[in-house]
Amino acid sequence: MKIDEAREVRTTCPYCGVGCGVLAKVAANGEVTVRGDPEHPANFGRLCSKGSALAETIDLDGRLLYPEIHGRRTDWDEALDLVASTFSRTIAEHGPDAVAFYVSGQLLTEDYYVANKLMKGFIGSANIDTNSRLCMASSVVGHRRAFGSDTVPGSYEDLELADLIVLVGSNLAWCHPVLYQRIAAAREKRPEMKVVLIDPRRTMTADIADMHLAIAADGDVALFTGLLAYLGQHNALDRNYITAHTTGFGQALFAASALDIAGIAAATGLGEDELVRFYSLFAATANSVTVYSQGVNQSSSGTDKVNAIINCHLATGRIGKPGAGPFSVTGQPNAMGGREVGGLANMLAAHMEIENPEHRDRVQRFWSAPTVAEKPGLKAVEMFQAVADGRIKALWIMATNPVDSMPDADAVEAAIKACPFVAVSDVLAKTDTVRHAHVRLPAAAWGEKDGSVTNSERRISRQRAFLATPGEARADWWIVAEVARRMGFGEAFSHALPADVFAEHAALSAFENDGARDFDIGAYAGVDAETYEELAPFQWPAPSPGTPLWPAGHLPLKGGDRMSPSFSPIADVAEKALQRKLPISPLEGEMAGRPEGGVQAGHSSPSTRFFANGNFYTPNGKARFIPIRPVPQTRTNEKFPLVLNTGRVRDHWHTMTRTGKSPRLSQHLAEPFAEIHPADAQHFGIGDADIARVSSAQGEVLLRALVTARQRQGSVFVPMHWTDQFSARARVDALVAPITDPISGQPASKNVAARVERF
Ligand code: SF4
Repeated sequence: MKIDEAREVRTTCPYCGVGCGVLAKVAANGEVTVRGDPEHPANFGRLCSKGSALAETIDLDGRLLYPEIHGRRTDWDEALDLVASTFSRTIAEHGPDAVAFYVSGQLLTEDYYVANKLMKGFIGSANIDTNSRLCMASSVVGHRRAFGSDTVPGSYEDLELADLIVLVGSNLAWCHPVLYQRIAAAREKRPEMKVVLIDPRRTMTADIADMHLAIAADGDVALFTGLLAYLGQHNALDRNYITAHTTGFGQALFAASALDIAGIAAATGLGEDELVRFYSLFAATANSVTVYSQGVNQSSSGTDKVNAIINCHLATGRIGKPGAGPFSVTGQPNAMGGREVGGLANMLAAHMEIENPEHRDRVQRFWSAPTVAEKPGLKAVEMFQAVADGRIKALWIMATNPVDSMPDADAVEAAIKACPFVAVSDVLAKTDTVRHAHVRLPAAAWGEKDGSVTNSERRISRQRAFLATPGEARADWWIVAEVARRMGFGEAFSHALPADVFAEHAALSAFENDGARDFDIGAYAGVDAETYEELAPFQWPAPSPGTPLWPAGHLPLKGGDRMSPSFSPIADVAEKALQRKLPISPLEGEMAGRPEGGVQAGHSSPSTRFFANGNFYTPNGKARFIPIRPVPQTRTNEKFPLVLNTGRVRDHWHTMTRTGKSPRLSQHLAEPFAEIHPADAQHFGIGDADIARVSSAQGEVLLRALVTARQRQGSVFVPMHWTDQFSARARVDALVAPITDPISGQPASKNVAARVERF
């Protein structure tokens, strides 16, 4: 695209799932400045340290600028031909399940859509999974079990309207800092607002907490089933809501009563008095939001944790109301966008289900595809195990670094090294994964590519290019579409622009969707490039026809003009879609199947949230309680007596391929560390700032000891970011066992049996 360097470009931060809007500008001397977008509804101008340092991380140092085969520079034709011919030959000789894509929450929705379409509809396998599996797969399954759909019911404004916020397994202050800022600001205005933090560590988030429950690893199921039992015992249920809008309450309450208060205290490591204080506070506070993140999801009981939390909100009718609801906060900027287009191995595009024959048929007809995957594919951990044992013979990794970020990282590296064919699309030339690639495909980076992302509150925002693409780098969707064409699927992959991909994605969301599916952006079916370019952030489901897509005057058009309030973009889009004969759904029927205004659609409403009057996406329209019993997840043993917990720090992102470029960001925490409780440090003979060897059954790392009473005794915390490129022997994922939640397939990165010793 043509870059207009004279104006600020509205785009979106590429880091966490808050999805903050940023304004980026390139000065005449080439200097890039980035500031928060005061009009973006996620952040209203705020940025955290990572977002405000974006301009420091976009130099070309280390970039992969040209296609390479076995380290030799080549041209796009030769590289793409080799990828296409190798995949085609492998499929012909061994079947479609002998190939796989491993993709990323760093991809834009358009990239994800094209990759998913190729794998599921044209190759005919569902072997496409994503690093989002490591992030929020348990929430996806938990939502689907309870609601019949993968729906986050609330909006960020609910955090400001709540009287009680329960943060579970979430260091919001460091991992979703702008949401933390929003809560802190709301609390200043309403000091009566209460915050409870449930986390084994006393993280910085505890600074705004009225109560910190230093829970034992994986004690959350016991904690929240206990809460449900308490609500039942103390007349704190919303029986009208339960009767009108849910099923299965009796069984869930029976299962939740398995432990008495002493049993819950034993399972959670909390005192009975702490439990009762938390339970009574929750019972007494109608406006409560439970925010949960990786401490819930990254667990072998992650799905049950999610449903134990949702059960409590259903039992009190605290869902779909201002300031109330269970709220999954995603890790990556586009974890949600990947879910929307079927980026997970067990989903189809537009939130349709791979196990559902009607859904498969619908997607196949919409795509005019020769086939469609008939069964779920391999989830991330299974996928690399299949690479290791030779079932996967051709692998394409896009925009992620699994050699450092997957559990059992050494085994993953060995598998990739031994795989007969590995293609990697990346922006960098030398990540630990790229160096094992037979074919390296240079991808466009943030600031160079165009597309959309969806944040944790279902808000779709544009990422826009403001920099010229360097060397021969190309957008990921383009690279995949070129391979698809070379595999003989040219007609279905003839998109010329990301707008074309988005228009098709929107049309699929509405195709034969009579309100039976939650994800609907059909109003954008057939959107043209100009309208797409101007798209302002909006939450799904997309607004009804005639409803402004954004509050009047909130859309800055090219040249800085403001949109006329009388402009009706929906009508305009629909007209263009019809002219282009794209398969759009009947716009007028967009929400017709939803009785009683079950969804408060319309971005003009400041409180777009789901399930306001029940009306869930289950066959009978009622939410499902899931009966859950706590099952001990103990892994420690005599040899490995500590619980290793991994996570993020404030100023770094994933494997530091971007944030590692900024000296400012590296000042906060300059090296990897192991956070150890003083009693454990004394027991293992480790002093503060000593070098500690942290080991598990999988491997070992060497880290600086940080002895602090903020850590729970019996646990050790290690950040996930540092790789051997930044600090020798610091890849913490080499310690993490490939244990997963049996339902979601999400790895248990928070509860690894480990030991520490002085090096
Ligand atoms: Fe970016 Fe997340 Fe920080 Fe917002 S809170 S600026 S999205 S890293």
